[in-house]
Amino acid sequence: MINNIGHTLKDYREIVGSSVISAIHANARELYGKNILHINSTYQGGGVAELLNSLVPLMNDIGINADWKTFHGTPDFFIITKKFHNALQGEKINFTEIKKRLYMQANKDFSVYTHINHDCVIVHDPQPLPLIEFYKKKQPWIWRCHIDCETPDKKLMDFLTEFIVRYDMVLVSNEKYKKSDLPVEQRIIYPAIDPLSPKNKKISRGVISKYLEKFEIPTDKPLITQVSRFDKWKDPEGVIDVFKRVKDENDCRLILCGSMAADDPEGYQIYENIKRKANNLIENKDIILVTSENNILVNVLQRSSDVIIQKSIKEGFGLTVTEALWKKKPVVASNVGGISLQIEDKKSGFLVEPYDTKGFADNIIKILQDPCLAKKMGREGKEKVRKNFLITRLLSDYLDLLNDAVILK
Ligand code: UDP
Repeated sequence: MINNIGHTLKDYREIVGSSVISAIHANARELYGKNILHINSTYQGGGVAELLNSLVPLMNDIGINADWKTFHGTPDFFIITKKFHNALQGEKINFTEIKKRLYMQANKDFSVYTHINHDCVIVHDPQPLPLIEFYKKKQPWIWRCHIDCETPDKKLMDFLTEFIVRYDMVLVSNEKYKKSDLPVEQRIIYPAIDPLSPKNKKISRGVISKYLEKFEIPTDKPLITQVSRFDKWKDPEGVIDVFKRVKDENDCRLILCGSMAADDPEGYQIYENIKRKANNLIENKDIILVTSENNILVNVLQRSSDVIIQKSIKEGFGLTVTEALWKKKPVVASNVGGISLQIEDKKSGFLVEPYDTKGFADNIIKILQDPCLAKKMGREGKEKVRKNFLITRLLSDYLDLLNDAVILK
């Protein structure tokens, strides 16, 4: 993964303005030299890795000693934690003792070779959540949940709550994900994108053409794209159904771009299912599946698309939507989770109920047939992201949090 190491806060001045940069420096003063540890479960693939790749270097740039460790799990561990992830998003789970044991053992093993002497520990998502059991707690621990956990499986949630209550604070991405019966302070922090990362930075027409040629993406027809892990919650099969309807009215191509995340063992199976579904269609030659892990390519695909679709059934936040809006692309997306916070329906895109195939298709056709509408939506979307969902705002929220957690405690 090409990462963002190399950018410093001053590089963002042109995008967000001097006052934002000065406020961040002022807010960091009390935190100079403090050791902050982030722990998550993968260095690449998915939104959390994406965020940490930009956030951790910036924290270091402003005088904090920010550390990032990734969890070492076995394939079995990641199969189990993916089931936990699905169950937190509302799916059924056969919650057995073996699953609990393996989950706990992997956390215990990690603690044996990982020293934690930091001033604050931030644990991302459920995989490393029980780590707190295996350390003598000497500092504030914060659990950052990136998942849509509005309607979790109750048994699993009860089990995880035993660990969550030991934390000093819980961070979620949406008011709806807070739990009224949880006796721990819960705060909302919205995720964000890095406008200077390889995935989001401006790129020249020359680079765009080079990548399109290299990855054999023709541009003689309008492009509709979904960038997402091959995951049932992202409903790639549903995207193909939408595409078929759109294509009946307006010739176009579909790109499904999904690299495989190291902590998501279901991806390969779902990719195979999609390939089979696409192969059985007469529209097959106009469906392009991309599995390369390449941030510039994602940037190129988003910039080259006429419409971005995000047909998630559940979505903790949906950084892919933020990325597309930042690139002034009209987005047609499900009215779920964090997506609803980002898109203003009919203004910066269209919000559609997740299973409404016709609604998705109709709105995509509307955009394809009205370039003025597409442009107007693109402008609105970019402004919304500039004000609310850039990495500088995220950094600033973390500083507020750390000032409270580390300094006041
Ligand atoms: N992503 C990517 N390549 C892919 C698919 C996804 O780089 O083939 C990135 C995407 O650009 C975004 C992140 O992975 O930055 C996905 O974050 P999101 O919040 O949309 O979903 P998550 O995968 O965390 O559920």
